[in-house]
Amino acid sequence: MTLRLLLGDQLNHKHSWFDTVSDNVIYVMMEMRQETDYVNHHIQKIVAFFAAMRSFAEEKESQGHKFIYFPLDDKRNTQSLTDNISWLIKENDCEKFEYQLPDEYRLDIQLKQFCEGLEIQHNAADTEHFLTKRDHIATFFSGKKTFVMESFYRSMRKEYNILMDGDEPATGQWNYDADNRKKLPKDHRPVKPLTFDEDVSELTQLIKKHGIKTIGNIREKDFIWPTTRAECLKLLDFFVDECLENFGTFEDSMAAEYWSIYHSRLSFAMNSKLLSPLEVVKKAVEKWRNNQEQISISQIEGFVRQIIGWREYMRGIYWMKMPEFGTMNFFENERKLPEWYWTGKTKMNCLKHSISQSLDNAYAHHIQRLMITGNFALIAGISPDEVDSWYLGIYIDAIEWAEITNTRGMSQFADGGIVGTKPYAASANYINKMSNYCSSCFYEKKEKVGEKACPFNSLYWHFHVRNREKLEKNPRIGMVYRMLDKMNDGDRSRILEQAEINLERIDEL
Ligand code: FAD
Ligand code: SF4
Repeated sequence: MTLRLLLGDQLNHKHSWFDTVSDNVIYVMMEMRQETDYVNHHIQKIVAFFAAMRSFAEEKESQGHKFIYFPLDDKRNTQSLTDNISWLIKENDCEKFEYQLPDEYRLDIQLKQFCEGLEIQHNAADTEHFLTKRDHIATFFSGKKTFVMESFYRSMRKEYNILMDGDEPATGQWNYDADNRKKLPKDHRPVKPLTFDEDVSELTQLIKKHGIKTIGNIREKDFIWPTTRAECLKLLDFFVDECLENFGTFEDSMAAEYWSIYHSRLSFAMNSKLLSPLEVVKKAVEKWRNNQEQISISQIEGFVRQIIGWREYMRGIYWMKMPEFGTMNFFENERKLPEWYWTGKTKMNCLKHSISQSLDNAYAHHIQRLMITGNFALIAGISPDEVDSWYLGIYIDAIEWAEITNTRGMSQFADGGIVGTKPYAASANYINKMSNYCSSCFYEKKEKVGEKACPFNSLYWHFHVRNREKLEKNPRIGMVYRMLDKMNDGDRSRILEQAEINLERIDEL
């Protein structure tokens, strides 16, 4: 008898483990407090994972596979992952233990250590989900000082023959990012996002009964996220049919009325492995290929780049740089996260909307994460530990390999430039260019000083002044310091003074 463990984010229906049904294999899945409690999670995130795990186990059982499922309140569930496995091995007289390679460093170490003490055969299988192996990025960039995503992305296009014409990009250009930076026009209404309506009240009650600390809100009678493969496929169809043709154009735009614009919201479906990245990309490319008058190349190229480029790249960086990555703090930031990150109660309209929708839907799109919540934390000098915990808890798709590389790396530049070439620091100018948040804000987007001056404006300069030594030599930032030096002394000190005032009363902004 072989015992096979499946973790909550290993819901790959197409895994070769399931190619044959065997009486000699038992699969086990467990709802564990170690997973619900390692950070303060959004209620929707815990519900989504548990609901997806339950439906996965049911579906596989109905196909004839032997499944043992430990719900949170199962008497056999000791709430120690390794004690549970040891007990199951003994109880079922197992001669072999197998698991799939975890995507979190923490679980990877835990299971490796557990297996070292095992007296039966054991094996770690690939999850058969990603397009690259864990060590691909480390090998790809071996001997290099910088790890430029674009070169990796082009190699992936070639390797998987995606949007290619022989060795050249199919439409003559590798990257159409420059075409994809439009603000949503005032009269443009994006399509209404497809949501689901599963009743998850039983799960919500169970989580409450067990006293699990959570954040955020939930509509428990009509849960919005897809939690079965069939629902995930439906969301994929919806994306390619209704969103793809505008995906790239409005990828960076933000609007107070719309929480996902044309974004796919497929990150949970992929991070739980209910959908494979390759099937998502193939489906989208096929749609584009058959509808080229309607869907321009910049839409599909932008989407493909996110998945076979950024997603795989971030995972590779994670495995190349963990565990050190988790402690990096390039700017030595120590400030606590303002209280309103947990409530959305701030007068700054961009942050109010980005945080409130995160609390309501466990979702914000990339630019909201990077240029609103991330940008503020960066220029205000918040500790990357605090920022990481917030992102890891609040988003439906937050699994450490994707979260920490994006947060500590791309957004906070705490890695000193492994992921990005410069910090994503911006003033109200950028936010106003890409959104309609500023037009109904308490603060004045053009002002730098005074009660009503937008806090982003003074904090932006304060960030550059206090980190001058670390950033001045960066060729992509030189301009900022030249502008700073041209500023008259009086203006500069008034702006820096305003920033100090803002930092002192950060919880009241
Ligand atoms: P779309 O905009 O529709 O993009 C399609 C897909 O591309 C996504 O589903 C995702 O799988 C992939 N993708 C796009 N950008 C990235 C990226 N930078 N890194 C990895 N994959 C990417 N993504 C997560 O999956 N989990 C996280 O915990 C996470 N935390 C983030 C934290 C910060 C501070 C930032 C700036 C980004 C984070 N991202 C994270 C990346 C990105 O914001 C999300 O993948 C995306 O917003 C998910 O929404 P979507 O499915 O609608 O994406
Ligand atoms: Fe955000 Fe400043 Fe614009 Fe207000 S004015 S929405 S705080 S950028």
